Amino acid sequence: LEEKEIMNEKAMARALTRLAHEVIERNEGVSSVILIGIRTRGIYLADRLAERITKIENSKVSVGELDITLYRDDLKQKTADPEIIGSQIPVSVEGKTVILVDDVLYTGRTARAAMDALMDIGRPQRIQLAVLIDRGHRELPIRPDYIGKNVPTSKEEIIAVQLKEVDGIDRVVIRTR
Ligand code: 5GP
Ligand code: MG
Repeated sequence: LEEKEIMNEKAMARALTRLAHEVIERNEGVSSVILIGIRTRGIYLADRLAERITKIENSKVSVGELDITLYRDDLKQKTADPEIIGSQIPVSVEGKTVILVDDVLYTGRTARAAMDALMDIGRPQRIQLAVLIDRGHRELPIRPDYIGKNVPTSKEEIIAVQLKEVDGIDRVVIRTR
C-alpha cells in the first residue's frame, strides 16, 4: 500500500482561503448564499469556508448539511445511486444560491443526489459545487465551480482527506492499493 501526500496543512488552509474569496467574488458577496456540506467531511469544509467568508466579508453565511449514502438494498447493484438519508437545512433555500461542499468529487453521483434533494426541499435560484479535491472519472455531466486541487487519479487509487475535526490532522494523501 503506497501513500503520497498531495496536500499538507498549509496547502489546505491556502486552498480554503482561495475558495472563500472565489465564492465571495463570483456571488458579489454572500447575502444570498447558503453553504451545504455533504456528509462527514464536506460539513467541516463548509464550516471552515463559512468561517473564512464571515471574516473576509464581515457578514454571516448560513451552513446546512446533507447526509448521502448508498441504499443498503442497492449495494449489490453496480448501478446503485446514492440516496439522501438526512438533511439539516437551517434556512429556506427558496431563491438562494446554494453551494454544495464536498471533500472529493468522483463520478458526480453524490452531487446529483444532493441536487435532487435540494429540489425537493425548495427552489434555489442556483446551485454551485465546491470540492476540495476533484479526482476525475465523472459519469455524469457535472463540473465543480470551485476546486481546491485537481488530482488526476486512476480508479484503483483512493484519496484520503484527513481533517483535524475527525482525523486529528489536516492533509490529503493518495493511496494505491
Ligand atoms: P461520487 O459520488 O462523485 O462518485 O463520489 C463522491 C463522494 O464519494 C463524496 O462524498 C466523497 O466523499 C466520496 N468519494 C469518492 N471518491 C473518493 C475518494 O477517492 N476518497 C474519498 N475520501 N472520498 C471519495
Ligand atoms: Mg463524502
